[in-house]
Amino acid sequence: MPKLKEMSRDILGSFWEFLFPSCCPRCGKYVAERSGWCEACLQEALSVRRLSLPPGSAFTEIWALSSYKDCLEKLIKDLKYRRKTSALPYLKSLLEKAEPELVWLRRKDFLAVPVPLYAAKEKARGFNQTELIFKDWLQEKEIPLTRGLIRNRETRAMYGLSPVEREENLRGAFSAIEEGGQPVVQGRDILFLDDIFTTGSTMEACGKVLKRAGALSVTGLVLASDHDLHL
Ligand SMILES: [Zn+2]
Repeated sequence: MPKLKEMSRDILGSFWEFLFPSCCPRCGKYVAERSGWCEACLQEALSVRRLSLPPGSAFTEIWALSSYKDCLEKLIKDLKYRRKTSALPYLKSLLEKAEPELVWLRRKDFLAVPVPLYAAKEKARGFNQTELIFKDWLQEKEIPLTRGLIRNRETRAMYGLSPVEREENLRGAFSAIEEGGQPVVQGRDILFLDDIFTTGSTMEACGKVLKRAGALSVTGLVLASDHDLHL
């Protein structure tokens, strides 16, 4: 009987594979691994590196895992603007491929904190995409994930703004979340997460609030960025 069950599961599995073959999310080529990437696209997309920090940065280090343009752009936009959660397994498989290069993850007892969305924006979108991208992967690593910051208002896109405009745009935009009268990040080594790193201004603003709230250290981890490629 168990054998028959196993057999039917195999047949169903093959039928499923036949109906919905696994395709690379970038080029559409058939791949054997479910939610996997083809080797060529993985090579293109995966680019684990430490980003250069501005002087006086609140971060100990910021790590980016992949390049954005022509690689993760479509998947991230599908998730954010078209609410296609079907992009998530592909992003998770990329995190898994990047992991061997993230040995430092084990060196501290991290508390992961995602970049917050303004509440009204999150309600309209239905989720915080950064949280969704990293959630299952972090759970498997047994790294706790919590909300440590709130975004007090909507901020403008940073791209194209002058440094002064960026600063104005971000002033007072983030606050630390408190529990029992103290910030949840107090005394913790924070792993601060974002989906995309562009100018870095939002990350810095959040890093500073985390430090002011008593975080021991803040390390950044971003899924995609086009900064410091081929360093
Ligand atoms: Zn491909």
